[in-house]
Amino acid sequence: MDPTKTARTVPEMLADADPARPALAGESGPTMTYGELLQLAERTRASLRRAGIGRGEPVAMVLRNGPHMAAAFVAVSTAAAAAPLHPGLRKRELLDALRSLGARALVVGEGCGSDPEAAAQALGIQVLRLLETDPCGGFLLDGNGSVPIPPAGQPRPTDAALLLHTSGTTSRPKLVPLSHDNLTASAASVAKTLRLDPSDRCLNIMPLFHIHGLVGVLLASLRAGACVLATTGFAPMRFFRWLEQLRPTWYSAVPTMHQTVVQRAERNPTELASSRLRLVRSSSAALAPSVLDALEDRFGCPVVESYGMTEASHQMASNPLPPKLRKPGTVGPQAGPEMAVMGDSGELLADGAIGEIVIRGANVMAGYVDNPQANAEAFRKGWFRTGDQGYRDTDGYYTITGRLKELINRGGEKISPREIDETLLEHPDVAQVVAFAAPHAKLGEEVAAAIVPKAGRTLTALMLRQFASRRLANYKVPRIFVFVDAIPKGPTGKLKRIGLASDLGLC
Ligand code: AMP
Repeated sequence: MDPTKTARTVPEMLADADPARPALAGESGPTMTYGELLQLAERTRASLRRAGIGRGEPVAMVLRNGPHMAAAFVAVSTAAAAAPLHPGLRKRELLDALRSLGARALVVGEGCGSDPEAAAQALGIQVLRLLETDPCGGFLLDGNGSVPIPPAGQPRPTDAALLLHTSGTTSRPKLVPLSHDNLTASAASVAKTLRLDPSDRCLNIMPLFHIHGLVGVLLASLRAGACVLATTGFAPMRFFRWLEQLRPTWYSAVPTMHQTVVQRAERNPTELASSRLRLVRSSSAALAPSVLDALEDRFGCPVVESYGMTEASHQMASNPLPPKLRKPGTVGPQAGPEMAVMGDSGELLADGAIGEIVIRGANVMAGYVDNPQANAEAFRKGWFRTGDQGYRDTDGYYTITGRLKELINRGGEKISPREIDETLLEHPDVAQVVAFAAPHAKLGEEVAAAIVPKAGRTLTALMLRQFASRRLANYKVPRIFVFVDAIPKGPTGKLKRIGLASDLGLC
């Protein structure tokens, strides 16, 4: 990366790279160059204009992970605001997401089932089918089109490029708009932290509907003029083969994936010996120091833990690469936005004092879409409140000690407990329900629900799981049900979601 260049939009970032260098590849080998990716972005912009879609307008996307998803995200974000959705969403979750986005179109890929298209059609949203034209990300958009609009110039740095829902303390997810400015600033921070350069090849195993994969892997690599090996997703059986065949120089993942990699490393000595990894990155949930040590031991390269968040366009803090100090158990010093620890009255706290971690800077979103109440709560004295609790040590390294927000972090996937409450309350035999985070050895946290059945009704975990599965994407479905006569309350009589797992004897 040339630090003197200050690309402020995604297409400017692509144009900074050598057009002949590889930008994207799938699992099968052939690559798409930066020049080809820029041309694809231009063609996509023209297709979207023909479909009546202009700069910053929301375009939902449901695609399988892989090079086409990566290319489509980059191309759509240069022309409109790309809104990649979890392909596992059930139809009513899709309806909610499309409504909340105010989507102008849905880009849908092969093998994503009929629900996305049906949901878009039910809302009168035009569907653009993505037709794959080669194995390294090339595609055409096919749609009936609406009213064409005249061609427009390049996007502006303040235009929304990415829209993502974030699980919050409310049942309805909040919508985070990230501008080109936000995304390119964060991509540059990750590229700088990891010292990425055009010779790097990142094995992407992260989903490309989450900020970690989109910015921590894809845009960070493109910022550095490097190549992304866009796989279909984490597959424990194939991971080691990819290491040998695709020759990546780094990968980024959530701690649960790293744990699986460590467990399987012993069974793949040849692939391990051929590894060219120069670093491994972890983010999105806490990495146990024992897993970090084991990874460093197996791969013989540094493992850096980073701290990220959707509203910050991903990276906020990161442990640095050697020769600087890595401190396992910490998320490192600030590495992107300015960071501080805030006390209850909004004062900034001294090193060592525990409070709420707050951030401000170029990669922090301006505010949630159409949500004045959430914005009033989220910003304080110009700082964005992360809802995470922690402290900074005298070297400037942050440790996360807990969470102030009601969120379940299931191995990096974030779930709003209120959404689970509302869904299970629709069951005719449920009187009360409180979803909460239960500790889990591998995932960190698992979705649990305390249930008070209606008088005289019998409920089982299986019945409730089946009920929830029909309405919620798989990762949100509670795995643990605790049947109680009354939900335990905190000392003030208020429902106490945080700490419920211990009150119910689950830890
Ligand atoms: P997301 O918006 O899905 O990226 O989730 C952001 C949240 O994930 C943060 O507010 C933290 O609660 C959590 N998180 C991210 N990185 C880490 C980390 N390294 N250690 C602990 N929690 C993390």
